[in-house]
Amino acid sequence: SVPVITIDGPTASGKGTLAAEVAARLGYHTLDSGMLYRVVGLAATRAGIAASDEAGLAALASRLQLRFDGTRVLLAGEDVTDLLREEGAGVMASQISVWPALRTALHDLQCGFRQLPGLVADGRDMGTVIFPQAGLKVFLTATPAARAERRYKQLISKGIPAKLDDLRQDLEARDARDKGRATAPLKPAGDAILLDNSGLDVDASVQRVIDWWSE
Ligand code: C5P
Repeated sequence: SVPVITIDGPTASGKGTLAAEVAARLGYHTLDSGMLYRVVGLAATRAGIAASDEAGLAALASRLQLRFDGTRVLLAGEDVTDLLREEGAGVMASQISVWPALRTALHDLQCGFRQLPGLVADGRDMGTVIFPQAGLKVFLTATPAARAERRYKQLISKGIPAKLDDLRQDLEARDARDKGRATAPLKPAGDAILLDNSGLDVDASVQRVIDWWSE
């Protein structure tokens, strides 16, 4: 069967970077599941489907015209990669991801990323719901201050204006929503290994995961 490593954790904990680096080291595929919720949010905004319209969002998700070109994401042929990274896309994703019908509609699409030689999947429910049989499950944490700081530096380095306090408030609100929802709440799988990377650089975090994987 196809090996899978899951990396779950809260907003701006560094999941995406860690997943991409681990996958590069192992030559595995990646699944950035948050990106899928972001795409649905963007497509919904464009189609005039409200964040409260659970059935409409689920229907939209099951007929998404998604393609990938290397690291670029194409929606109906348009490169939306940069739009998806915007803070607003993350907030919208977090609002719509509470809907069970939407989560179900995205289930099979996510499972399809499980291909040889292996997959590193990051998100909120990779280890708990989507890939419960994964060979290694990591739950990444970092203090809200460390995460807000990281997100702040990321945005500023891209020339996007940001305020540290606003970012921290926003990510704490998102944490609360992700943990509090009834379906697939953010929590470590029973067999997940916790990794607090507040004081670790990317290379050190990558090395930990590689070491656990080779044990
Ligand atoms: O990880 P990212 O910030 O891109 O995810 C955007 C939002 O999508 C998260 O705040 C979360 O609410 C939702 N999400 C989810 N389940 C996942 C991945 C993301 O509910 N597996």
